[in-house]
Amino acid sequence: MEDQEWADRARCRGVDPELFFARALHEAKPALKVCGRCPVKEQCLEYALSHDVDYGVWGGLTERQRRAVGRRVQLARVS
Ligand code: SF4
Repeated sequence: MEDQEWADRARCRGVDPELFFARALHEAKPALKVCGRCPVKEQCLEYALSHDVDYGVWGGLTERQRRAVGRRVQLARVS
């Protein structure tokens, strides 16, 4: 079983999950603010990238921002 102990320390615990699934970037800002001071942001982003999580704010990034990061990681692997 995967270790997700980091999720217990997530700053978004108890925050309305709807906040993290906004459609537009400006609507995602409140979620991004929560993530900004999250002690497990790195682990959360790593989880989202390694599990191809398509929707929502994870690790302080929107889905669009994560896709860009994912592409850069792929390019770095082939070069
Ligand atoms: S980085 Fe954001 S979405 Fe991830 S655990 Fe922290 S507060 Fe929640």
